[in-house]
Amino acid sequence: MVGSVSLYDSGIIDVNYGSASLRLFSARDSLWADWIRNNKIKDSVFWSIDEKKTTSWTWKSLLHLRPLARRFIRCNVGSGIKASFWFDWWTPFGPLIDFLGDSEPAQTGIPLKGSVANACSMTGWRLRPARSPQAELLHFHLTTLHLPASSIVDDSYFWRIEDIDLEAFSTKKTWEAIRHRQQPLSWASQVWYKGAIPRHTFMMWIVFLNMIPTRTRLASWGMQIDTTCCICGIHSETRDHLFLHCEFSEDLWVEATRRLGYRSFVFHTWEAFSAWLDIKDSTSTQTVRRLVSQTVIYTIWTERNNRYHNNVITPVHVLFKKLDRQVRDAILAKRHQRKFNHLMQSWLRFI
Ligand SMILES: [Zn+2]
Repeated sequence: MVGSVSLYDSGIIDVNYGSASLRLFSARDSLWADWIRNNKIKDSVFWSIDEKKTTSWTWKSLLHLRPLARRFIRCNVGSGIKASFWFDWWTPFGPLIDFLGDSEPAQTGIPLKGSVANACSMTGWRLRPARSPQAELLHFHLTTLHLPASSIVDDSYFWRIEDIDLEAFSTKKTWEAIRHRQQPLSWASQVWYKGAIPRHTFMMWIVFLNMIPTRTRLASWGMQIDTTCCICGIHSETRDHLFLHCEFSEDLWVEATRRLGYRSFVFHTWEAFSAWLDIKDSTSTQTVRRLVSQTVIYTIWTERNNRYHNNVITPVHVLFKKLDRQVRDAILAKRHQRKFNHLMQSWLRFI
């Protein structure tokens, strides 16, 4: 019960500062918010102000709790003039400074204090070519948005708790969300393991989170597109269909599981796939299973994009050859690590 908790309990104080944070962004008729904007924030970005350089205790406390407020405050981009390109949460990927990393402002050419409006013109986005899978995903997402430069609507901010958008700040709901802290994700160790190929792991992470921009997901963001699978052209392109059930993907899994020493099989659900990555059996080690699975997922997504964007179709047996080469190269590169030193033998057993 909220009422049974002392006012000095940090949770309650945090929640009230959360309310203050949202008012800073959204309130139009708040003297306090205006004063803070004009005297404290000035031309800086609220999220990147150095709290050590401030002397006011209240202001310092508010700044200190920014990571907490950041979990909940979302931005609806209108004209993009107010929205911070790097720090506001305006794409499905979270604040871009976290998603793309600290080195990206220099690489993309958008300054740290830049707004979303700074990143585009009336004709398109001004970003430099993508150099990482994350940047590629962002570029792809941006093509699905209306150009802010052509909008006259103000950017707006709102509070989101567990996928529910609230019109006004709610102390009770926020407190509940903070109190029940999320358990660590049970599948984290299936994605992040020692010796993994970073670009494959990143892709797997996005796929496990079900954040990969499949056509059904893009449609759920409001994009008017055909949601049919880019590969088979028959079923809806959901994550589970594309990566597990599409005939093309099933062929890859059949070959991959056979090479791992199993009687070939496919996965009926994502949960079954996740459970298989986690089991310990005598047929294959978890490391080789994770390495191969991540390479399969990466291969499927790359092939899907090649078909969608470039109209290039590669047959399954050719893709499996490439996949095989990538697995061998990864094992060779890591052969001095304990978990990798017998993997080549295991991968070549059923060639
Ligand atoms: Zn399909």
